[in-house]
Order: sequence, then C-alpha cells, then structure tokens
Amino acid sequence: MDYNQILHTLQNNIPAQIWYLIPFFLVAVVIKSAWFKGKAGEAVVNLSARLFLDKTRYHLIKNVTLPTEDGTTQIDHIIVSQYGVFVVETKNMKGWIFGNAKQRYWTQKIFKYSQKFQNPLHQNYKHVKTLQNLLDLSDEQVFSVVVFVGDSTFKTPMPENVTHGGGYVRFIKAQTEQRLSDVEAQKVIEAIESGRLAATFRNHRKHVAHVKEIAAKKSSEPRCPKCQGEMVTRTVKRGENIGKEFFGCKAFPKCRGMVGAPLLQ
Ligand SMILES: [Zn+2]
Repeated sequence: MDYNQILHTLQNNIPAQIWYLIPFFLVAVVIKSAWFKGKAGEAVVNLSARLFLDKTRYHLIKNVTLPTEDGTTQIDHIIVSQYGVFVVETKNMKGWIFGNAKQRYWTQKIFKYSQKFQNPLHQNYKHVKTLQNLLDLSDEQVFSVVVFVGDSTFKTPMPENVTHGGGYVRFIKAQTEQRLSDVEAQKVIEAIESGRLAATFRNHRKHVAHVKEIAAKKSSEPRCPKCQGEMVTRTVKRGENIGKEFFGCKAFPKCRGMVGAPLLQ
C-alpha cells in the first residue's frame, strides 16, 4: 500500500467535517502551548521594534546571556541607541495586574483567583545593574523597560516604563536626549554581540578581589610608631637575633621607627 492509497482509505472512512477540524485543532494546541506564548511575547517586542523604531538609530539585540555571581541570566531584548540602552523584560501574563514601582510582589488576578509574582522592575533591575557595570555605563544611560504581552489589564497606575505590548516603543521614543555618542553606542553593541560580557565579568571580579586583597594587606601592615609612615619588612643583619624579621620605617635612616623588634639591642 503506498502513501496515496493510505490517504485514500482514510478519506473514505473519516467524515469530511473532521478533516476540516484538524488544522483548527492543531492551531489551537500550538496557540495554547507555553512555547507559543513565549514566542508570541518575543514576536510582539520584535515586530514593534522592527515596525516603529528607525533601524539606523535603534539597534535591537535578542537573547543576551549575562553572567551573574551564580551562573548566567537571560535578557530577552536590549535596544541600543544614542538615547540610551534599553533593557526589555517581557512578561507573558493574562488577567488583572496590580502593582507599583516599590512593591516587592505584584498580584495577578484571574476571576477570583489571585497569585503573587516578583515585581518585574526589581527582576529587571539586576539585569540593568549587571549590564551597567560590565559596560561602564551611568544610571542615566541605561533604562529598564517592562513589557506585558498577552491578555492582561493594569488595575493600578503603572510607572511609564511598564507597558503593554508595543506600547514600550512610545516610552523609548520619548527619550530624546542624547546619552551616548555614536562611538559609545557602537562599542556597547560590539561588546554585547561579541559575547565578551562573560570575560569582562570574570576580569571584573578578579580585579575586585585583587583590590580587596591589597586593601587587606595594607590594613594588616603596621604604620611607623614615630612618623605614621609606611613600614617595610627588614631582617636583622647581626647579633644574636640574626635572620629574624621586623618592620622598619620606610624612611630609614631619617626615621628609626620600628615594630616587632624588642630584640634589637
Ligand atoms: Zn618613621
């Protein structure tokens, strides 16, 4: 039996109406899936950016992996322009949404059921700060943007950077002050797209650890009891204590202050 024959047999045995329903059924399954919802959310952001943001001035970067203290975190979208770097967090939710900038948790209500979820502004704050540190950008140069996609309604007044669907484009376009030069914007784009962020992060941490180490060492070294100056380690050159170490003033022989040398007579 070849393929055509099977199809023919099926066609004869299944009522025609069911054949018409199958595509609808498949579409419904796909639309209901979390995968599709995630994709739809991304698509809203992508499409709005493509349609309403001038490509020559706004550069869209998707799926950026950022290093964190305990692994990595994912940013859906970053839009880089002379007007700032916009870090976009997408929330795919339906129902009524209650929240404000300061609350730790927001509430989602569907009919009489409600549940709490982390304030997306707080969630995105970590992304913003990480990016800012890695790229050496100021608070004024990086914006946090939260986009709700899906069938939801804000039931409390929201900060202007919390938007619905393509509405985030309006927030971005409202920023008209130049905050990065062309060269700076280009550098940011390159740093993100080259995937150099993880390496920068490692160096950053190493640097911080090194600075701490130096500070710790400095604070453990004594200061000269006579002139308060720096001290260095010296070794006893002669006598019965020969070979023993002590701290002597760096300004020796001008200053003869020393620490840890009760032995030197
Ligand atoms: Zn001294």
